[in-house]
Amino acid sequence: MMGTVVTVDLWAEDAIQGKAWAAAVIAEFARIDRLMSTYKADSELSRINRDAGLAPVGLGAELHGLIGRALALSVTTEGAFDITYESVGYLYDFRARQRPDVDSIAARLDAIDYRAVKLNADPRQIQFTKPGMRLNLGGIAKGYAVERGAAILRDVGVRHAVLSAGGDTRVLGDRRGQPWLVGIRNPRKQGSVVTRLPLVDEAISTSGDYERFFVEDGVRYHHIINPATGMPSMGVQSATVVGPDATITDALSTAMFVLGIERGLRIIQKLPAYEAVIVDDKGQLFYSDGLMVPAIAP
Ligand code: ADP
Ligand code: MG
Repeated sequence: MMGTVVTVDLWAEDAIQGKAWAAAVIAEFARIDRLMSTYKADSELSRINRDAGLAPVGLGAELHGLIGRALALSVTTEGAFDITYESVGYLYDFRARQRPDVDSIAARLDAIDYRAVKLNADPRQIQFTKPGMRLNLGGIAKGYAVERGAAILRDVGVRHAVLSAGGDTRVLGDRRGQPWLVGIRNPRKQGSVVTRLPLVDEAISTSGDYERFFVEDGVRYHHIINPATGMPSMGVQSATVVGPDATITDALSTAMFVLGIERGLRIIQKLPAYEAVIVDDKGQLFYSDGLMVPAIAP
């Protein structure tokens, strides 16, 4: 689902009840995907992408809220997280090994600009103020769905659970007395991890250059786009963010990937509830200050 595998692990007294709760989480993912997918021509987001360049478009409260949060995160991350990256990003097809040439990027680069999205609260409307703008919520929707799924489980009284969608994971409570141990994948070695973090009631998101990519003439073209260049962001292999809200860890991990070690750690330092682990292009690990307590060895 959402281009990745969604898993739900939970503790329940009753197996049938537990399965029903897991199914409710999966149904919530499907609902969010129908709302926000750019692959579905009839999703609310596709309708916005089609029409918001022409005139203000009405939109539902949920999408309005999430787009608002995404735009705020663009400010926090100095533009590294920018859902308008899609203005160029739609020209990439990693499965088909397709990428735009320099002229196509140059012609559209100005349309990557979160400041040019006008979101109005009353009436609830969105408008693009530059030609050729498009939105893609791929860097935040999975975290949002994981957070929503966790809320469903919490509301029915589940106290121990792990939900994950690709690189985005949310743990509820602990693993019955022990912290959950969540591994950070080795970006260059499948099946191995560079470290594990002990987590209780937290979210963790990793953005990596190994999820969707192709290699051409020794260059790795992958799905995290630097909004400043319209090209895949270089210098980092993976970026992980830990914190209380999966919607935010999802967006911040994408942003840390784009920002790199120095700028990324400087910005995460300003967000006391959030910590980061970044793996640079030589495979070296960098931790934000709050994580300097040694993590458990792989
Ligand atoms: P994953 O999808 O592997 O969990 P991310 O959370 O980093 O990894 O999300 C990557 C997705 O985010 C891309 O597939 C794309 O849809 C979107 N994206 C890429 N670059 C940016 C960016 N600079 N800002 C916001 N979203 C982005
Ligand atoms: Mg992300």
